[in-house]
Amino acid sequence: MTDLDPEEFRRLGHAVVDWVAGYRGGLAARPVRGPVVPGEVRAGLGPLVPESAQPLDTLLAELDRVVVPGSTHWQHPGFMAYFPANAALLSVLGDLLSGGLGAQGMLWSTSPAATEVEQALLDELAGALGLDPAFTFAGGGGGVIQDSASSAALVALLAALHRASPSWRERGVDGTERVYVTAETHSSVAKAVRVAGLGERALVVVAGTPHAMSPAALAEAMAADAAAGRRPVLVCPTVGTTGTGAVDPVRAVAEVARAHGAWVHVDAAWAGVAALCPEHRGLLDGVELADSFCTDAHKWLLTAFDASLLWVRDADALPAALSITPEYLRDGAGDVVDYRDWQVPLGRRFRALKLWAVVHGHGLDGLRAHVRGHVALAAELESWIAGHPDLELVVPRSLSLVCFRHRGGDAATRAVLERVNASGEALLSHTVVDGRYVVRVAVGGVTTGREHVEALWRRIRE
Ligand SMILES: *Cc1c(COP(=O)(O)O)cnc(C)c1O
Repeated sequence: MTDLDPEEFRRLGHAVVDWVAGYRGGLAARPVRGPVVPGEVRAGLGPLVPESAQPLDTLLAELDRVVVPGSTHWQHPGFMAYFPANAALLSVLGDLLSGGLGAQGMLWSTSPAATEVEQALLDELAGALGLDPAFTFAGGGGGVIQDSASSAALVALLAALHRASPSWRERGVDGTERVYVTAETHSSVAKAVRVAGLGERALVVVAGTPHAMSPAALAEAMAADAAAGRRPVLVCPTVGTTGTGAVDPVRAVAEVARAHGAWVHVDAAWAGVAALCPEHRGLLDGVELADSFCTDAHKWLLTAFDASLLWVRDADALPAALSITPEYLRDGAGDVVDYRDWQVPLGRRFRALKLWAVVHGHGLDGLRAHVRGHVALAAELESWIAGHPDLELVVPRSLSLVCFRHRGGDAATRAVLERVNASGEALLSHTVVDGRYVVRVAVGGVTTGREHVEALWRRIRE
């Protein structure tokens, strides 16, 4: 046979697990991001496609020699840039199991377990997050794991287009469609608008108060569009914007949107998982009025990319928009969920396994402790910054995200960021708020603890 013999796989698998364990164990001693220049990794590589088979240990040696030094270490405890991309080791093991099964779950019949585990897991997680039972399969809705929040926004938009116009599937868009966002909405919604062929004219940027969507401005914009013959299709409030963690008033926004028959998609990609903690449930106030809700397990919830959780209130909405059944996929399975109809691609892997490995191995109390620990650390950092004469908070802390600047202006703020990042001890990123440069600190790494936030604070003060 051409595949590895299972005994050989066992031996090599141990070596690979050892490699990962060594990498993770040694992370804290490395700089979060090494000084790599464009082209350096490629220049350091030998030929990648050999004529004859090579042993795995030479590949592992290349990882050590070229790949690790050329990587930004997202699992480093000092990584506090962007948002976290947790890849807890349990999720890595879950990914291995999923690859080991090697199943395609495009239809229920092509791998019943892949579909039903995902359904059961998302139903239970809906309960754990405090989502309205209408978002569960038992309640007439249901959840699905997308590759990313970007894909979740795209399929929500496609379902919204179908609901807004029954002839959309045959005739496509007509240029009157409108999608409502704010200046802080993630760019993935603008991309979805483009991918769906609506053109950027469809995107209406609603004013904020100052950073959260203003329901009054939304009502005005939607009424003006409706009066002019344009069709409000989708409104996207965000719970925890990427820039500053702002939270749009979902309930008031959804009430306005519903009055115009528009689909409400709540993007809580980063912040939504915090609702596992009862003290953060308020974040989801009004989500029961939405048509769809998305939060990423692959940001803060310990699960290796990709695992974006999307729930819809109407289990028929995505299949109605997306289902196309050629003869070779007719299986007569009857009343089952075929997840290919809930996403853009046909094929899909057993993503639920890595998420299951995480929730099973950490338990809800472990997941809550993970979130609470970061929120508490960010609160401490916030108080240190608030007490420093040269620094100021730009917006109030949002969960574990702290945004600050130097009172001396943009150049001084940028210098703080550059100094911290050059130290290798921590990695931060920036944004611009009201035209001014701002440093973002997103506490949330799997192994980020008090000592790492203290080390960051020492660097900031320098
Ligand atoms: C990160 C983020 C996204 C995009 O997430 P992907 O899963 O990488 O597509 C969308 N919305 C918000 C608010 C985000 O923070």
